[in-house]
Amino acid sequence: MTDPSHTTPELSRARAVLQNSFGYHQFRAPQEQIIEQLLGGGDALVIMPTGGGKSLCFQIPSMIRSGVGIVVSPLIALMKDQVDSLNQLGISAAYLNSTLAPDQVQRIEAQLLAGELEMLYVAPERLLTPRTLELLQQIQLALFAIDEAHCVSQWGHDFRPEYIQLNQLTHHFPTVPRIALTATADKATRDEIVERLGLQNAEKFIVGFDRPNIRYQIMENDGNSRQRLLNFIENEHPGEAGIVYCLSRKRVDDIANWLQSKYINALPYHAGLDSQTRQQNQNRFLREDGIVIVATIAFGMGIDKPDVRFVAHLNLPKSIEAYYQETGRAGRDGQPADAWMVYGLQDVITLRQMQASSEADEAHKRIERHKLDAMLALCEITACRRQALLDYFSDPLDTPCGNCDTCLQPPQTWDATEAAQKALSCVHRTGQRFGVNYLIDVLLGKENDRIRRFTHHQVSTYGIGTEFKAGEWRGIYRQLIAHGLLAVDLQGHGGLHLTEKSRPVLRGETKLRLRKLRKASKTQARKAAAGESTNGIDLQIWEALRSLRLTLAEEQGVPAYMIFHDATLMEMMERRPQTLDQLAQVSGVGERKLASYGVQFLDCINSHTNQPEDQGDTVSLTVDLLKEGCSIENIAEQRQLTLATVYNHLATAIEHRGLPLTEVLPLSSEHLKSVRYAFETVGLDGRLKPVFEALEGNFDYGELRCIQAALNADTG
Ligand code: ADP
Ligand code: ZN
Repeated sequence: MTDPSHTTPELSRARAVLQNSFGYHQFRAPQEQIIEQLLGGGDALVIMPTGGGKSLCFQIPSMIRSGVGIVVSPLIALMKDQVDSLNQLGISAAYLNSTLAPDQVQRIEAQLLAGELEMLYVAPERLLTPRTLELLQQIQLALFAIDEAHCVSQWGHDFRPEYIQLNQLTHHFPTVPRIALTATADKATRDEIVERLGLQNAEKFIVGFDRPNIRYQIMENDGNSRQRLLNFIENEHPGEAGIVYCLSRKRVDDIANWLQSKYINALPYHAGLDSQTRQQNQNRFLREDGIVIVATIAFGMGIDKPDVRFVAHLNLPKSIEAYYQETGRAGRDGQPADAWMVYGLQDVITLRQMQASSEADEAHKRIERHKLDAMLALCEITACRRQALLDYFSDPLDTPCGNCDTCLQPPQTWDATEAAQKALSCVHRTGQRFGVNYLIDVLLGKENDRIRRFTHHQVSTYGIGTEFKAGEWRGIYRQLIAHGLLAVDLQGHGGLHLTEKSRPVLRGETKLRLRKLRKASKTQARKAAAGESTNGIDLQIWEALRSLRLTLAEEQGVPAYMIFHDATLMEMMERRPQTLDQLAQVSGVGERKLASYGVQFLDCINSHTNQPEDQGDTVSLTVDLLKEGCSIENIAEQRQLTLATVYNHLATAIEHRGLPLTEVLPLSSEHLKSVRYAFETVGLDGRLKPVFEALEGNFDYGELRCIQAALNADTG
């Protein structure tokens, strides 16, 4: 928050620009102080998490100071986005990079010389050419902004050699203020930025790492991750944009195909696709609403889409840095978003093997091992994930966050000492060279040729582990590896051997507690699309606003979010402005956008507010249609919802509002009995797949969900 009592004429101007051009009512901390620093002619170093609002810090001073603000940015795609966004706001900005034709370059140079631009975005290599430097010598400059400043760091993951040359700017333009910005900010990188860019006199503005709107969830893979992903998307993010990360190209293709077959709007992205398809999929993700992109980690650099509602990992990232960077692509607009991950034993083994067989020198390998260990520790902790994450970045959080899975559903632990002893001694007895599957076969006393050949049916651990199922043993082995009691062999066969840390456990000197495998419980379906929210706001107006936004975006050839952000549409929906003045009060509606789109959005709001059927909530609307005799497919089509969503509405009505199951599904009592029996034997814990399988696919998931709701209504 900013202190409104602190005013100078320049700050008043900054506040006016914020309101009039950007449509925002107040600055976020510490935007105002940063802007003040630049307006006073000083330099600044800004470390702020993604989505914190870095851009305004140089955009507003560029507009207020005389001359043009030069913004150095490494990513060509982002330059275009930022310039398009500014143009949408009625601010004159342009970019110079290798994608422009010579005549376009000439036009921009002429604009620059004529003083017609407020901001110019340039790639660093372009900026440092004699031609550009000479051009800049001829005009007045408001400031230099060096975005993604961590690119100067040779040790970082995004090193750009051209960035190092940027220190020349001090010599060429000693009086022009400079601001360097990044979201990557461990102390070493920070020092390197100051050193290499000559920012010793810059004031530092360091905002913590926390992304409070992101909910972190990490779950063990129970062999069913694909279905869990689908449930997660259908229940929590229907029709919303998200990124699903997988380790391999093949897995990307598989998952994208499977999601498509389940009516999710999913597209693949990986280096094996031809560049045209890849580009096209990325563009659709950026421009349209509600696309799920399934990708390898090649995807994401330079993705500045503000309304990504979830990032899902189907594999373990190899460090916390990578995890944080990838999950950080969710919720840049500050609205609630999810970072959701499933991981399993195979991930741990694969990553360990990849490291062991890498060509890197020993020192590098040691660092990578530590990083993976930290990532595994994050997965296995039973305390708040956010506290652990922020600790890792030396930005401690005092109290548990209340918005991660361990806070929301504290995991249970159990005394696993005896189980661990069995698992470890089985490794020992079989000679410390076999992989997990074999070890589990021995523990379970399986009869097979391999065991016979090695005469392991005669070792003392043969058949001593029948109290657990194979899947449970996998969970135990995974945690033993994660906690460093077992190591994976260097030859890459997945053989396990004991480490020093295992000795006290084997000798019975220390106890070991492990996490209990968590059942995929019914996660509390959080409000997904705004239209699903519980405060009675209807889905139709939300869909209408989104579709108007998409039409306008297509007309202008810009991504939908550039017209208005989700948060702005949500506020419109809540406030239902009736006049242009009222619309101007909505955050994100500046003067230019009010003039360009105001009337159309008011019309849209009006036409939906006056319809009587809009009074009800979204579940009631579905139920009403059903009672009028519409089929479920029909309702989905009319309301432009997925079948799964309609079934979810009906299940809600059955479970909580007394809608009789028979009105939804015409089932014979025989059928009902068989389904009820399946639920009773498999359990009512929320997992539908075992029931689905037990019934051999005779009932689809939507039907099962409704029957389950009816059973829950009976019992609860
Ligand atoms: P960063 O570059 O730090 O990732 P951006 O500059 O893209 O973040 O800003 C993130 C989002 O927050 C953008 O949608 C931006 O419009 C919005 N935003 C920035 N400052 C404010 C503010 N003072 N009030 C409301 N929204 C803001
Ligand atoms: Zn927490």
